[in-house]
Amino acid sequence: MTAPLIDPFARPITYLRVSVTDRCDFRCTYCMAEHMTFLPKADLLTLEELDRLCSAFVGLGVEKLRITGGEPLVRKGIMAFFRSMSRHLASGALKELTLTTNGSQLRKYAAELADCGVRRVNVSLDTLDDARFAAITRWGRLPQVLDGIAAAQEVGLRVKINAVALKGFNEDEQFSLTEWCAQQGHDLTWIEVMPMGDMGEEARLDQYWPLSDVRARYAQRFTVTDLAERTGGPARYVRLEETGQKIGFITPLTHNFCESCNRVRLTCTGELYMCLGQEDMADLRAPLRASADDAVLVAAIRDAIARKPKGHDFDYSRQRVVGQVSRHMSHTGG
Ligand code: SAM
Ligand code: SF4
Repeated sequence: MTAPLIDPFARPITYLRVSVTDRCDFRCTYCMAEHMTFLPKADLLTLEELDRLCSAFVGLGVEKLRITGGEPLVRKGIMAFFRSMSRHLASGALKELTLTTNGSQLRKYAAELADCGVRRVNVSLDTLDDARFAAITRWGRLPQVLDGIAAAQEVGLRVKINAVALKGFNEDEQFSLTEWCAQQGHDLTWIEVMPMGDMGEEARLDQYWPLSDVRARYAQRFTVTDLAERTGGPARYVRLEETGQKIGFITPLTHNFCESCNRVRLTCTGELYMCLGQEDMADLRAPLRASADDAVLVAAIRDAIARKPKGHDFDYSRQRVVGQVSRHMSHTGG
């Protein structure tokens, strides 16, 4: 029962990303439709059920837990969940408890997160321009997010900024955003826009700004050194020698990371996605609810991991979006 989770391609699964809600206080254009229909509350796992599920994964060797969403900090009672997960940090079973957030609620929760053992947060921020921020997030306000980031820093949380690279939107902010991150002491990672949700194919290709371009533009201005650092995910890192800054690139559309993939994704309804880019998933809610004994659940988790595919099928080549998956990022959690 306690043998670690190893998939058919001999990859140990040590990283679980959990989307605790599909709801959000923003409506980023690349992530959600303006009038999203959210899941009925009754479909959601309770926080106690999420606790049981996450704890089962930790018992099976998961060492890193990332809480995401939707916006994780808008789920009611979420701090009780963080508090409860912190017991696995205290026991040493979990090495890292972290979250990805839009930052809007960080002023309210940063201190408590730090107290629960969270050391780092990823904050999504695509622009430092008020009007652009309002346009891209539809409902978000930049000052609130910047204040949330400041709150995180005040309590000693390390902040990594995630920016989605969007053609015609933040291309002209590449260097100003980089400089701001350097001044503030934040790491910065660029994310290539992915074909998720029901956005039209044309709109998606319109927004696509390949990170090879972002990298090339850095190389015109800085000495760019590739770093060997790997996270088991789609991120690659470089250092800008002149500033010493580490810059990440998440290019999920390339396959070069699949061979070292160490992660699976759990949704707020208990679906386990073995690959971000594939439709195949395993329902863990039924086995979870079928019995109070974790044996049934653990068997279902093992069955699912045995189905983890070798890689995904995203491809923007030949100007077609191939391998598009219909679910939104807010469902699987990005
Ligand atoms: N609400 C939180 C946030 O925005 O950080 C957590 C969930 S959000 C779905 C996680 C990440 O996915 C964010 O960094 C967001 O920018 C990114 N994201 C959303 N839709 C995307 C898309 N179509 N392509 C690439 N990244 C996307
Ligand atoms: Fe909300 Fe994050 Fe999606 Fe933006 S990217 S709509 S903040 S879940």
